[in-house]
Amino acid sequence: RNPPPTLYQPELWSDHFNDFICKCLIKDFELRPNVLDLLQHVFIRQIVGRERILQKQLMELIDLNQQIGTTGKTRYRHDLQRPHIALLDDLVTLEVLDEQLQRRYAKDQIYTYVGDILIAVNPFHKMELYSPQYTKMYIGAKRTANPPHIFAVADIAYQSMVSYNADQCIVISGESGAGKTESAHLLVEQLTVLGKANNRSLQEKILLVNNLVEAFGNACTAINDNSSRFGKYLEMKFTCGGTVVGAQISEYLLEKSRVVHQATGEKNFHIFYYIYAGLAERKKLAHYKLSDSKTPKYLLNEHIKLGPDIVNNTFYKEQFDAVEQCFKVIGFTLEVHTLYVYSTLAAILNSGDIEFASVASEHQTDKSNISNIAVLENAASLLCIRPDELQEALTSHCVVARGETIVRPNTVEKATEVRDAMGKALYGRLFSWIVNRINTLLRPDTHLGEDDKGLNIGILDIFGFENFKRNSFEQLCINIANEQIQFYFNQHIFAWEQDEYLNEDVDARVIEYEDNRPLLDLFLQKPMGMLSLLDEESRFPQATDQTLVEKFEDNLKSKNFWRPKRVDLGFGIHHYAGKVIYNAAGFLSKNRDTLPADIVLLLRSSENQLIRKLVTHPLTKTGKHTCVLCVQGDTGTGETTHHPRESTNMRTQTVASYFRYSLMDLLSKMVAGQPHFVRCIKPNNDRQASKFDREKVLVQLRYTGVLETAKIRRQGYSHRILYTNFVNRYYILAFHAHKEPEASPETCAAILEKTKLENWVLGKTKVFLKYYHVETLNLMVRQTI
Ligand code: ADP
Ligand code: MG
Repeated sequence: RNPPPTLYQPELWSDHFNDFICKCLIKDFELRPNVLDLLQHVFIRQIVGRERILQKQLMELIDLNQQIGTTGKTRYRHDLQRPHIALLDDLVTLEVLDEQLQRRYAKDQIYTYVGDILIAVNPFHKMELYSPQYTKMYIGAKRTANPPHIFAVADIAYQSMVSYNADQCIVISGESGAGKTESAHLLVEQLTVLGKANNRSLQEKILLVNNLVEAFGNACTAINDNSSRFGKYLEMKFTCGGTVVGAQISEYLLEKSRVVHQATGEKNFHIFYYIYAGLAERKKLAHYKLSDSKTPKYLLNEHIKLGPDIVNNTFYKEQFDAVEQCFKVIGFTLEVHTLYVYSTLAAILNSGDIEFASVASEHQTDKSNISNIAVLENAASLLCIRPDELQEALTSHCVVARGETIVRPNTVEKATEVRDAMGKALYGRLFSWIVNRINTLLRPDTHLGEDDKGLNIGILDIFGFENFKRNSFEQLCINIANEQIQFYFNQHIFAWEQDEYLNEDVDARVIEYEDNRPLLDLFLQKPMGMLSLLDEESRFPQATDQTLVEKFEDNLKSKNFWRPKRVDLGFGIHHYAGKVIYNAAGFLSKNRDTLPADIVLLLRSSENQLIRKLVTHPLTKTGKHTCVLCVQGDTGTGETTHHPRESTNMRTQTVASYFRYSLMDLLSKMVAGQPHFVRCIKPNNDRQASKFDREKVLVQLRYTGVLETAKIRRQGYSHRILYTNFVNRYYILAFHAHKEPEASPETCAAILEKTKLENWVLGKTKVFLKYYHVETLNLMVRQTI
């Protein structure tokens, strides 16, 4: 009844139309027909010549929403067109992306399309965008029918899956804190609704999987209080009919080093705080050999003195209850999770408190012994092994020299290293075990019929490109993963576009883009790629990080690789997203990621089933969880080799080789599906709502390839409009308004010739236009009427 005054100013209406229609539809069911009546009235008066189109649209809008309003059922046949609004929502047509994003952000329009990519700018405050009305609004609607939204991506993926009987893949990217994980949650939520899980408990389980995995895999960092410290590919499994029947997760590159060390202002994985506070609440700390007065060292980052705050923290206690609830609902058995998971976590915390002291020895090497035997005994009892054996495995190691097995003492430094390696390995394997268990519990086999292989929608939530002051092995892996995903992205954008040109017989070879294939070769090629060289060097006991960098320099012949002067152990890579200087310090040991054979063998004798399992059997067929033992006999070029005290048939696997394997595995899953892209953007570094740092956004748009994509779209024909739609929309530029001509190529050509536009092409069924054509055409229409 009171439309905004701007509705009477046609040059402004499109900005408000969007909001206005949404409000009408969502808030004002009763009023809606009246408002739409009024809107029609206004438009008919203001924009003569377009009323017919408009009327049709509005009627369809009313129709669709009445149906959704009454039944809430999915409907695909509505082919709503919102050409004018869609143009604004889709920034592929706009020159200054960041400026437009800023304008939209100021109006709380956090979602925008750039062609077929969804850009999501983190609002940093709760948005009224995810209520059940929105869930409904985005079910079965055409993309252009509603404002851009993450639910629309879920819907498009779901619709494509069902209609084309094909797997789908949603790739979410962006830097830390940009909103990837939130987006992934929202997608899963919407997909469980779309997948009409007839089994409520399954729906609940799927929704809880994220929470459980995040309790173990997320941590508070300087940038994000709930930062994912692993990459995740979640596959939602459906029947061919589109009913959700299960889920499977794959995890990548868990940042295990966080267990034993956290950077300034950062914390350990959430679960440690949850369990510590939760067990304190239940007066069970003593049972797990923990004390409320002495906080475990692994939790005591010297920079944040959390000590007593942890056991009293009600949030942590609630989260602990929530984790238990997740375990229960997903189907973990009580004994398994309490006895085994908790005691493994407590064992890690206790072992972190084991202290070593140096003892003078007659020989040249420094010996160490354990100065707090009580703590050692606690750790050993939780690990269900003998304390004296644990002490021995920490403070000495066995080597074979000239056929004889000799026990050599560990220095304090070495013993500390072994202790931390044990903590990291146990945690990493525990995490994988939990993920595997979830996969077993949510496997869809039992729900799928005999002939139904099922379909899936994968959601990839993985760290974005990283470039810090100091970049190490972790950054290299993350950036290689991003390089690979970018490659896939390019392929898709081009393959897709090229296909359409081919199908329509359109000659368009003009498209050029930055192909990052040479970079992928630089990293992944065998045997001369960076990862292969790293593996080769890791096999030499005498190799150092210095010899590694020299090996890189001698063998990598690429303009994207260089050695910066005056940076010790430094090397530079020109990634697609920018130049990064890496520091190779620690590369070899991080890549070897060895858990000494002495520790492996000892843990295998544990009476705790879970611990035994973590160090004995590969948990998956891929060999992923095979133990990485100390340098094996066959590579021993030195005088001595470490001796596994009994024969072990485990394969040596470096982090790089496993990383390469999992990247390929991920890619094969992604390639099998039709992709959808969500690019998350962080508008400022202060986690503040309504603050838009243009410089920062621009950098991200560049990194994520959004600007590139916009460029690609501009070089190509970003608009491909069916003849009927084109004639319907633009005929008044060349024909009488009261009589719409036939939708033939000749009519289209007549219209385009009349407008004196150049560089358009007619395909078999579509008109191919440049992004700027559409804007000009729309302007002309406005001037004509
Ligand atoms: P990432 O996974 O990219 O590191 P997160 O998804 O964890 O980032 O988001 C970081 C924080 O930003 C969240 O904890 C939340 O506070 C905020 N946030 C992200 N997306 C949204 C959203 N759509 N609505 C409200 N807040 C959001
Ligand atoms: Mg995250």
